[in-house]
Amino acid sequence: HTGAAVFHCPLTNKGVAFTEKEREELGLSGLLPTAVSTNDQQVERMHEILDRFEKPIDKALVLDSLHATDEDLYFRLLTRYTAEYMPVVYTPTVGEYCQRFSHIFRYPRGLFISYQHAGHVRDVIERAPNKEVDVIVVTDGERILGIGDQGINGMGIPIGKLALYTACAGIDPAKTLPVVLDVGTNREEYLNDPLYLGLRKPRSRGPEYRALVDEFIAEARRRWPNVLIQFEDFGNQNAFKLLADYQEKILCFNDDIQGTASVVVSGLYSAMRIKKEKLTDQMFLFFGAGEAACGIANLIADALVSEGMTREEALKHCALFDSKGLVTKSRMDELAAHKKPFAHDYAKCTDFVEAIKMIKPTGIIGVAAQPRTFTTEVLEEMSKLNERPIIFALSNPTSRAECTAEEAYRVTKGKALYASGSPFAPVEYEGKTFVPRQGNNSYVFPALGLGAVFSRSKWMPDGMFLVAAKKLAELVTDADLEQGSLYPSLDDIRPVSVKIGAAVAAYAYDNGLAGNERPQDLEKAVEAFMYRP
Ligand code: NAP
Ligand code: MN
Repeated sequence: HTGAAVFHCPLTNKGVAFTEKEREELGLSGLLPTAVSTNDQQVERMHEILDRFEKPIDKALVLDSLHATDEDLYFRLLTRYTAEYMPVVYTPTVGEYCQRFSHIFRYPRGLFISYQHAGHVRDVIERAPNKEVDVIVVTDGERILGIGDQGINGMGIPIGKLALYTACAGIDPAKTLPVVLDVGTNREEYLNDPLYLGLRKPRSRGPEYRALVDEFIAEARRRWPNVLIQFEDFGNQNAFKLLADYQEKILCFNDDIQGTASVVVSGLYSAMRIKKEKLTDQMFLFFGAGEAACGIANLIADALVSEGMTREEALKHCALFDSKGLVTKSRMDELAAHKKPFAHDYAKCTDFVEAIKMIKPTGIIGVAAQPRTFTTEVLEEMSKLNERPIIFALSNPTSRAECTAEEAYRVTKGKALYASGSPFAPVEYEGKTFVPRQGNNSYVFPALGLGAVFSRSKWMPDGMFLVAAKKLAELVTDADLEQGSLYPSLDDIRPVSVKIGAAVAAYAYDNGLAGNERPQDLEKAVEAFMYRP
């Protein structure tokens, strides 16, 4: 019987929303309860079911089943209740989802490419059911959020990110493909776990690693020449290298380096509106000196250069503090390449509070995955130095945050210009309600991808990330700023994505990168291009 087969295709299944006519045509009459539900009723029914579960991870399991059986309803729900369910399909719950991946796995989604496929990755790519693919998110699971090596369990991240691509920026879910490169794990606990679903050996650092990555990229692009490849949560040695080697050659970006930079610079522009100061007057001290820190610091330098500063001068506005202390000129010989541009002439310093006293930053940006490191002392010192200190606690998931929103507002007496990587609830302080929003790349990566895919951009220069930052900042209202929000509400994310997507596409058209003709009304065309459940 063919009728019931439609229930088994998640892309076409509509469940009780199949109309009388469709039920007749498809031979479904009697296979469903009598009454037809509207799409809205289906969403409300699902919302009610999810409300029965208290723990976010349990909600994630329910959403997983929905994703596997009725994608239309899944995305309706995510689109309608973005702010409510984003923390379930994304940070912080996706951290736990990854850690438990091998124990909660039920539905295969995307591609699992391991060394056993080396030399014939093409066959795996050919097996992907997607006819067309617009966006691939790929990880090798080495640095998942701030929780380190997750091996194949890191697959939760590409799946979650792609759900946001569809929910936030209308990338057609049939044209998204999550990929994990299963190249082993160094986590003993997983190697010893009988249920672990990945390759049971340590990560290799040899040439076979890079060969597998290169083969995957080549084969994906052979089948889908216009595909955008987003690198996600690679360890930083590989991340910087892959980006340097591929950025100008193919349509790709690294979200941890570039997407993060875009969203953070945007938050800084919003902070400038509150402080009524210019970015050129600021000094930033980073806690952490990896992918996120160096990505952000480089884009801040680009932003300062766009305001007329020399590059040499611009780089001096960011200082880094890593696991060995302040990044200084005297350490030059031992520094990884990505830190060198920010090694300045400071005295040796291994204490973060001392570094604050010495550098006198107007803002501190936490991206070291070291929880609770923005202590009362740190926050008090920032308050002494600044009327409105910028405090960004960006490490994910919530358990890795440098400080909570409540801590930031309480210690700085409501003066902090605060953003966090994972969500925090609004905070009451002396009769005022502060609504912190997420300094999280999720505000921009879906729209950056949308703009790049729409315009068939050849590659993605850093300028695109600055354009996205500026556009996002423009969309923050005075009412948002009034309540301490440096970003717009996530529930309004789709119209925001249209505008950022159009700005990114405009950059491609203006700079000769686009692979198609610029439409008359770009915003309208980008909006029309978006998938709607
Ligand atoms: P990464 O490349 O591995 O960098 C981590 C950095 O932290 C390294 O520079 C490391 O120092 C430093 N570090 C480690 N322990 C330290 C300590 N005790 N004191 C000072 N510095 C220390 O990782 P990443 O990609 O930058 O990510 C870092 C964090 O940022 C993660 O929690 C991630 O979730 C978060 N993140 C957030 C967003 C967002 O959108 N909000 C985006 C991307 C990343 P060494 O260089 O000396 O090893
Ligand atoms: Mn990431």
